[in-house]
Parts: sequence; structure tokens; C-alpha cells
Amino acid sequence: MARAVPKGSKGPQGGSKASLEARKARAAKVLAVMEQLYPQATTELSHANPFELLVATVLSAQATDASVNKATPALFQRYPDAFALAQARPEEVEPYIKTIGLYRSKARNLVRLAQKLVEKHGGQVPKDKARLQELPGVGWKTATVVLGAAFGVPGIAVDTHLTRLARRLGLSEARTPEKMGAELEELFPKEKWVYVHHALILFGRYRCTARRPKCQDCPLYAECLSKGAW
Ligand code: SF4
Repeated sequence: MARAVPKGSKGPQGGSKASLEARKARAAKVLAVMEQLYPQATTELSHANPFELLVATVLSAQATDASVNKATPALFQRYPDAFALAQARPEEVEPYIKTIGLYRSKARNLVRLAQKLVEKHGGQVPKDKARLQELPGVGWKTATVVLGAAFGVPGIAVDTHLTRLARRLGLSEARTPEKMGAELEELFPKEKWVYVHHALILFGRYRCTARRPKCQDCPLYAECLSKGAW
């Protein structure tokens, strides 16, 4: 049974209306809870190297990590690196990823991405956000995720889970992922940025879901601006 919350209760002031100091205090509580719940939080995308992580992250756009993980073992066996994938035609890649949404455009992007990696980066994944973003199918979020998970470059990539949680927890009300990422980075210690991204995704995926979040006994209940809304 969900805890009773008075109707109309707005909870503590949050988002951009709260002072930076207040939001930092809130972020500290969120971080402490995440470290309790998910001490080892990391990406759930299976990968063995930066190339595989880049491909898996491109595939994960508008798809679940689980669906990507089902497809990638055979894909990576057939195309183990950028050189192999660069030689493929998109129609040859499609059967490996057809269980994933938008597979036709993703197959095209992956082949072009591999060709660019070979042409411009010696087949390696660049450790530079601007260069990553020049690759087909790679935007700010994918570049930030790959830099963090593959190379440990600090950054908070914002996806739908982080957007929802940042608002519910009064951390940021920014309207673009880039702006929200910058606002979140102000609130958490730099060495925790990559961790915070992964931990909040797990919290959003398994507990604070978009519909029917598991508010009962939520360790962030006291901090939440949305408690009692369901
Ligand atoms: S109380 Fe509910 S809405 Fe708020 S953070 Fe917890 S699970 Fe999410």
C-alpha cells in the first residue's frame, strides 16, 4: 500500500526554483541512497571494448538494453571491429539487428559509422566528444555515455530516466538534455558523474518507473516532489 500523502501536497521546493545550495543538499542525499542501492552501477549493455559499446549504444536508441544484448553477440561475432563492419552493406547487417527498433536506419548508420572510424580514426573509437558526435547516429547523449563507460571521462548523460528523475527529485527542470546534464554536473562531485548516470538509470528502470513507480518504502520518499501522485 502506498503511503498516504495529503492531496495537493507539493513537497519541498525543488527544480530550478530551489537555490543551488538546496539542490546540492538534495543531490547529496540522492547520491547516498544510490550508493546504498547500486554500489556497482554501470551500463547494462554487454560489451568487451569501446567499439562494441559504441555500437551497442547506437543500437539502444529507442530500444531496451535487453533487446540490444540479445542481438549483439551474433553481430559482434560477425563484425568484431570497425574494419569488418566498414566492409558490410547495410542489408547484410539488418538481419542481425532486426529485432531492435529502427533497425534499417541503424544498420545504415552503423556501416557509415564504421567507415568513418576506419577513414578518420584508424578504426579506433575517438576519446573526444566533438569527434564522436561527428559519427553517424552519435549525438551528445551517446557520446557522453561512451566516453564515460569506455574511457572514464566524466559526464552525466541525460536520457528519459534521468529527465524524469531530475524533475521528480527537484534536481533540475532544464528543458534540454544538454542543459539538464550541465545542471546535474553542478550538483554532484565530478568523480561521481559517470556513476550517477548509471545509478539513476537503474533507479528509473527498476523503481521510479514512468508509470506506477514503486513509491512504497522508497528511500527517496522524503526528497521526492512527486510522491503521492500515483
Ligand atoms: S517516491 Fe516514488 S516517484 Fe518519488 S522517487 Fe520514490 S519511487 Fe520515484
